[in-house]
Amino acid sequence: MTHTSEDHPTWALAAHGGAGAIVRGDLTPEQEAAYRTAMAAAAEAGAAVLRSGGSAMDAVEASIHLLEDDPLFNAGRGAAFTAEGRNELDASIMDGATLAAGAVAGVTTTRHPISAARAVIEGSSHVMLGGEGADAFARSLGLEQVDPGYFFTERRWRSLEKGLARLGLPIPPRPASAPEAPSARAALVHEEGKHGTVGVVARDIHGNVAAGTSTGGALAKRWGRVGDSPIIGAGTYASNQAGAVSCTGAGEYFIRLGVAHEICALVRHRGLSLQDAVDQVVQRDLTALGGEGGVIAVGPDGRLAWSFNTTGMYRARIADGRPLEVGVYKDEP
Ligand code: ASP
Repeated sequence: MTHTSEDHPTWALAAHGGAGAIVRGDLTPEQEAAYRTAMAAAAEAGAAVLRSGGSAMDAVEASIHLLEDDPLFNAGRGAAFTAEGRNELDASIMDGATLAAGAVAGVTTTRHPISAARAVIEGSSHVMLGGEGADAFARSLGLEQVDPGYFFTERRWRSLEKGLARLGLPIPPRPASAPEAPSARAALVHEEGKHGTVGVVARDIHGNVAAGTSTGGALAKRWGRVGDSPIIGAGTYASNQAGAVSCTGAGEYFIRLGVAHEICALVRHRGLSLQDAVDQVVQRDLTALGGEGGVIAVGPDGRLAWSFNTTGMYRARIADGRPLEVGVYKDEP
């Protein structure tokens, strides 16, 4: 049998923008169109890098920049608030060619947490930096810093107020630097902003894979809570021997299962196809543990896979010789 580029694309990329209770009829047509357009734009941005021979790491970073800047997603601008009314951002990135990995947790002033995560690889001998130190590190390398009010969106603030009321917790004062007028785009955020972690996986024409994930974390999180997104092996993993994976969902479950690494281990040691591996971990293991969420993955052969046990996941995929596909609900391919 001959293999066309469709069987084994030379480059491939998938992106997610969060998984959760995303049901047909819940989103207004304007909201749905906004999410679809944003996912398409992010996938195209990464595809442009890959098409021109750029690296999987560069493609992942370029796609995630768009998603971090878009208030629709719970990452960068538009991040969910902590119970104290702050935005504490987590991100990680991993290079499947070298197993180099970088992560930041709880950054509050770095505009692009995914770039801070990448800088950890290139500018330090560490894998993970946290809190003020991570921002100071990013600042020292010249990464763009913003006032914490940059991340504020009215819609996420309202989600926080509702979330805290449900938990019986006090509502903190509005951040002093919050903008006065709500932005029209941020008003399109779905479901009072519960979802929206973003992630991208890519395979470049040189045969290397990479994965990255960026999030504001769980709504109304407290005590410096950190989810799976910045944890290498849980929310993000990449190895040229197995593939690249980015996760979204209830982080505590993804950490317990080491979801991203577990998928790669099933491919590497049990010989499962990538699709079987993502389905096994998400549909069987994650579901059995009571966790909800989804994953995207790309294999070293450029094959793409995704799986989620929620009613929807914002997602897009594109590969050499294949058209861009964008999905929101479960019943789409
Ligand atoms: N996984 C993220 C976290 O637990 C949240 C999400 O993906 O919705 O922080």
